[in-house]
Amino acid sequence: MHKYVIMGAQGCGKGTQAKLLAERFDLVHISVGDIFRWNIQNHTKLAARIKRCVDAGELVGDDIVAQIVHARLAEHDWNFGFILDGFPRNHTQATFFLESYDIDAVIHVAVSDDVVKQRIMSRRLCQRCGLDYNLIHHRPEVPDRCDVCGGELVTRDDDNEEAVEGRLRDYREQTEPVLDLFARKELIVTVDGTESVEAVHQAILTALGHAWPPPSRPDDARG
Ligand code: AMP
Repeated sequence: MHKYVIMGAQGCGKGTQAKLLAERFDLVHISVGDIFRWNIQNHTKLAARIKRCVDAGELVGDDIVAQIVHARLAEHDWNFGFILDGFPRNHTQATFFLESYDIDAVIHVAVSDDVVKQRIMSRRLCQRCGLDYNLIHHRPEVPDRCDVCGGELVTRDDDNEEAVEGRLRDYREQTEPVLDLFARKELIVTVDGTESVEAVHQAILTALGHAWPPPSRPDDARG
């Protein structure tokens, strides 16, 4: 059982890295941002409150966040563990979380503000299947069309310059201090998020103490 949190400014690649870790260790990937977007798309009771904050690049209220994270973890569908992405984002959320759950490690994907801005402004999302693209590193074969399902690629409503500045400010002022809290508990591993996706993934595995490359099994030699 592995219980991880992955943190970093938006655009640092934590969503991609969370997915890779989830696949490798059969973890449930819990992205609070995805849960919020699902609520907005499905016009739930909370949708209007969430949408107002998300569109403005502001943090959603801690009461809603606590409710959503608690309900998601209470589903107990995470037999092999979970990786929480986009949470906690401030001191209140971190305190609530640490009071209720044990974790094995917090993965901090570090990138500079300039890299964040450049990556976010080139981020695109398939409107149909939700696949992420990046016009710098992961271009679609046909412009504005998803390689997998052919859906239209769109910019997230909250990926505009003003909202990005706001989220970066919140990250530096509210989320980074949370890293200190976890560091005091010796839970943090930090990796350089400017490397390639595969290099960052391997750096995370090494930092978490998972042997890399994995030891070969007798079966592997049979081809
Ligand atoms: P993300 O997909 O992680 O970039 O999140 C998108 C948006 O959802 C953020 O800009 C916030 O408005 C909101 N959000 C996501 N996670 C949290 C959180 N832990 N606390 C408050 N707001 C959040």
